[in-house]
Amino acid sequence: MHSNSVFRSSLVSLWFRLVSLGIVGLVFAEGLVLAPGKVQGWTFYLTTWEVIFEVMVRVVCAALVGIILGTVFIAVALPFLRYFSASQDRVVQWTTNTGVVLVLFADSRFALTTLIKWSQHGSRFMTALLMLHFLAFVVALCIARARRELLASLDGFLGAKAARAMVVATLAAVIALEVTEFAFAHTGGGVKAAQISQRPKSNVLLISFDALSAEEMSMYGYKLPTTPNLDAFARNSTVFTNFYSVETFTTPSIATMLTGRYPSETRVFQLQGTVQGERTQTLPSLMHDAGYGTGAFLTNPFAHYLVSNPDNGFDILPEPAFQSGALQHLWDWTRPLHQNSGVGSRVAEYIDLESDWNGFRNLPGNLSMRFRPDASFEGARKVVDQLPDGFFLWVHVITPHHPYLPDPEDRGRFLSEAEGRKFAENSELQWVPHYNPDQQAQVDRRRLLYDEFLLSADRGKLSNTSVIVSADHGESFEGGIFRHESPYLTRPTIHIPLIIRTPGQQQARTVAFTADQTALAPTILDLAGQSKPGWMDGQSLAPWLSRESTDAGKGMAFAQFLEKNSIFKPLTHGTVGVIDGQYQFVLDLDTKKGTLRPLNESQIWNADRSAENPAKAQELLKAIYTRFPKLRHEAK
Ligand SMILES: [Zn+2]
Repeated sequence: MHSNSVFRSSLVSLWFRLVSLGIVGLVFAEGLVLAPGKVQGWTFYLTTWEVIFEVMVRVVCAALVGIILGTVFIAVALPFLRYFSASQDRVVQWTTNTGVVLVLFADSRFALTTLIKWSQHGSRFMTALLMLHFLAFVVALCIARARRELLASLDGFLGAKAARAMVVATLAAVIALEVTEFAFAHTGGGVKAAQISQRPKSNVLLISFDALSAEEMSMYGYKLPTTPNLDAFARNSTVFTNFYSVETFTTPSIATMLTGRYPSETRVFQLQGTVQGERTQTLPSLMHDAGYGTGAFLTNPFAHYLVSNPDNGFDILPEPAFQSGALQHLWDWTRPLHQNSGVGSRVAEYIDLESDWNGFRNLPGNLSMRFRPDASFEGARKVVDQLPDGFFLWVHVITPHHPYLPDPEDRGRFLSEAEGRKFAENSELQWVPHYNPDQQAQVDRRRLLYDEFLLSADRGKLSNTSVIVSADHGESFEGGIFRHESPYLTRPTIHIPLIIRTPGQQQARTVAFTADQTALAPTILDLAGQSKPGWMDGQSLAPWLSRESTDAGKGMAFAQFLEKNSIFKPLTHGTVGVIDGQYQFVLDLDTKKGTLRPLNESQIWNADRSAENPAKAQELLKAIYTRFPKLRHEAK
């Protein structure tokens, strides 16, 4: 009896020590991860309370993992504790000492690598310093006095009282976080059930492809047959040849598609964020109110998590399994800690978990970007199956977004298969703002791979309903700009397709009228017989669907790149551009200087003809300030 209770107390004492070590070690490491700019980055698009919430989520998760690890180690130590029953104290002490040494070594090493990364020294310097660190540790362990100090350095955390406090605090924090999320998830207004007795007779299907540049599509005149199916679809559709995205990357563009407002109004500037503003209505909530069954399947995590806030207006919005297997299970199991409450940043939590998990497994970080096009359409089909007739469905297909991974049947079509496979995603051509002319040949080869991937995207089957095909932004392989997310707003990064087929349309139409993405939501409402609310910036393009356009020079498209701004402050960084059908003018908000590019040079990031045509430059600058009067005011 007596020896049993001694055993139990040794076990409990060791468990507390190991758990404390786990918590201390991991929370310290998490602190290092949060410190280099991450918290500061959050302040750009999260309120102070949300930043605190996000820090809490990560610290609490680190502590939870510490508890789990401590428990795993106690299971390992258990047989030893039983076997050496005569000297249990020594086993406890020896195990604790090993744990202390491991935690101190791992944390100091991690701190060192983090510091070296901040100082941006070379890899040789890093290797030398890490070896020095290892040696210093071994030496410290060999010198009795240093060893004693080392082993005693974490004693403050290892007492039964401190250990118990840490475990209790972690569990209390978990409960507090869950209660917060739960409370917020249920205070949102929610979408009221539509009070419409009769469902609309027609359906509206919006298909947007991620990073699909109109410049690469055969139907827009590209030299390779990249979009045979869309070409066929366009034969009885209306094709808008001068349609532009409002941003050069996903999240702000998706927010505009959702609201018909410019990024400067939605205040979505970064890759993560939520639509701001006094009203919570969106295109799907308006369609819902008009009696439509609404659903979406969005296979880009940034798009999905932006749209899936509690008041999004979609009846059915399943969360795609962005990365099947263990990561998805982990995400599902820890769901109570990242509910869909609209507090904090769910996509930041997903991306962090994904990068931690994939970093740990040595997998590429962007596996979620590999959702296959057929899987996107299949997911959308399942959503449609659950919707009544008279539906509005939005499918966002991550294809042909980088990394370019064509289906097997498309490989080798434009580029030798061997070369296509050789393009590891971490090539020398990273997300560079612009590349040198001598790299053009490399970029051209990648362009062919993108073109093959585009073929794969093109294969999705379109159902026989009223269909709109577009993209969130473009992709560039010219003029010194590779891929998208570019502040220069060059044409290939924003020139996107817009193809609309109304029910029963038999003939092809071409509309050269210049418009941008803010027109999408008003057009869809117009097709649904609904009037556009006053707060939408764009105008419906539906009138163009019934008459042939000759107004090539008419219309204007605006684009913005505002990533460097906090959403809580006036806009002082980034670029705002306008295209009028002949020229593009891009205003740099930092320098207040603008560049004027004729449309046939607007793919070149540093082209500028404003000295040759100052009147045009002035006219377009005025157009920008007229469209965004707040900008002139805020820029001061
Ligand atoms: Zn995108």
